[in-house]
Amino acid sequence: MNTTIETPRHNLLIDGKYVAPANGNYSTILNPSNEETIALVAAGSASDVDLAVRSARAALKVWNGIRAADRGLILNRLADLLVKHQDELVAMESLNAGKPLSSVMRQDMPAAIDTLRYYAGWTDKIIGQVIPARTDALTYTIREPVGVVGAIVPWNFPLMIGMWKIAPALACGCTMVVKPAELTPLTLLRVGELALEAGLPPGVLNIVTGKGSVVGDALVAHPGVDKVTFTGSPKIGRGIMQGAASNFKRITLELGGKSANIIFADANLENAVRAAASGVFFNAGQVCSSGSRILVQSSVYDEVVERLVERAKAIRIGDTASKDTIMGPLVSATQMNTVLEYIDIGKKEGATVVYGGNRVAGNGFYVEPTVFTNVKHEMRISQEEIFGPVASVIRFEDEADAIRIANGTAFSLAAGVWSADIGRVHRVANELRAGTVWINTYGFTDVRLPWGGTGESGFGREHGEAALENFTEPKTIWLSFPQ
Ligand code: NAD
Repeated sequence: MNTTIETPRHNLLIDGKYVAPANGNYSTILNPSNEETIALVAAGSASDVDLAVRSARAALKVWNGIRAADRGLILNRLADLLVKHQDELVAMESLNAGKPLSSVMRQDMPAAIDTLRYYAGWTDKIIGQVIPARTDALTYTIREPVGVVGAIVPWNFPLMIGMWKIAPALACGCTMVVKPAELTPLTLLRVGELALEAGLPPGVLNIVTGKGSVVGDALVAHPGVDKVTFTGSPKIGRGIMQGAASNFKRITLELGGKSANIIFADANLENAVRAAASGVFFNAGQVCSSGSRILVQSSVYDEVVERLVERAKAIRIGDTASKDTIMGPLVSATQMNTVLEYIDIGKKEGATVVYGGNRVAGNGFYVEPTVFTNVKHEMRISQEEIFGPVASVIRFEDEADAIRIANGTAFSLAAGVWSADIGRVHRVANELRAGTVWINTYGFTDVRLPWGGTGESGFGREHGEAALENFTEPKTIWLSFPQ
């Protein structure tokens, strides 16, 4: 009897069908917790992208031929299917991205469903204006879909961030070619399949897996793509901006962060440190808005460090399938090595590791939650995004000092401020250069509230009504009635 279990093999999802990649190549997908192979996934190429873009173009007419409210019903049916299959999707995301099962169940999965339902409700509310410009003409605007959208998704929240792009784009009447991150393609492939079951016409949502430098590049360069929405690193974002210039594509870039979480001496330290710890260690620090710089007023610096170390010690690292696990591995060996290199850089720069700092022995890409003290604002560990469970605790003296340090990086995605002084928190929130400021809390996002940054954190906003701007173009219409 043959007892070998074959590794599942996934093809591309183009025009409503599974299609083998033109080059016949597949890449290996690992479970970051134990480094075992869990799947083979098509390594697409430019010719697959071309096929998908053609399919998406053809589907534009079909998708927009459906009454707006009925498009909303289809998106809500997809949300129902996500609910129905949520155990499977949660397990798949946890296995593929190395996230604790409980955290995907509590955060990623409900957020993905909420996003889809929220934008399903927008389909029949995307309206123009009647603008009284003339007495001899009816002048008004309508809002048309931008057309074919290329969506490039990172590996830290594959399903949730994928849905941040898919839901508003489809709600606006766009069609799509989605490129999941090469490390974590499984859940979005499944979403593509469920979308067909929900009644989405073939070609509206195509999923092309493969390398960023191949599939991503081809999407950005393709003249049939009208808009690229990208979440990822500033380095790749810069290349996308340059690539999109070739045919003046519209782009939205959600890039990195080096967010400051500022704790004043009069804050409730218990709450502040609890939130600061989860703000930097959640998802093993692989979060764009990670509060990786914890700015602490001098008089409470030692107490905050002590409390933070206690919290770091209490984090249970381990098997992502166990409900007790709080922190999983980093997504890949590459990411783990980058984080370990940064820990080394921090030590060489003269900062002190007061907790953690090492790879966890055994299989899987685990790194200990790490706390640095004696961090100077100019150090690389204070200026560069590490994207791992590494906290830099920085001392400040007064309000002006805190604002200067907080605003002193190339990023501006998010920030936090903790104080009991209501005047101060407002003053500081106004001064912080950040797309989101949390006051006496940290890390929340909600699809109803705009999300994004400026500078090396990118531009454009996802979420809320703001995201509809990303996927629609206003058209002005004159209807002449001369006297
Ligand atoms: P990455 O830039 O390496 O990859 C992101 C995506 O781009 C992947 O799908 C990748 O395949 C693709 N890609 C790679 N090379 C490409 C190319 N030449 N052309 C087109 N696409 C290409 O980033 P990552 O390592 O997956 O994600 C981590 C980064 O994402 C961090 O910097 C993080 O801060 C950022 N991020 C930002 C947000 C936000 O909302 N602002 C959210 C999550 C992650």
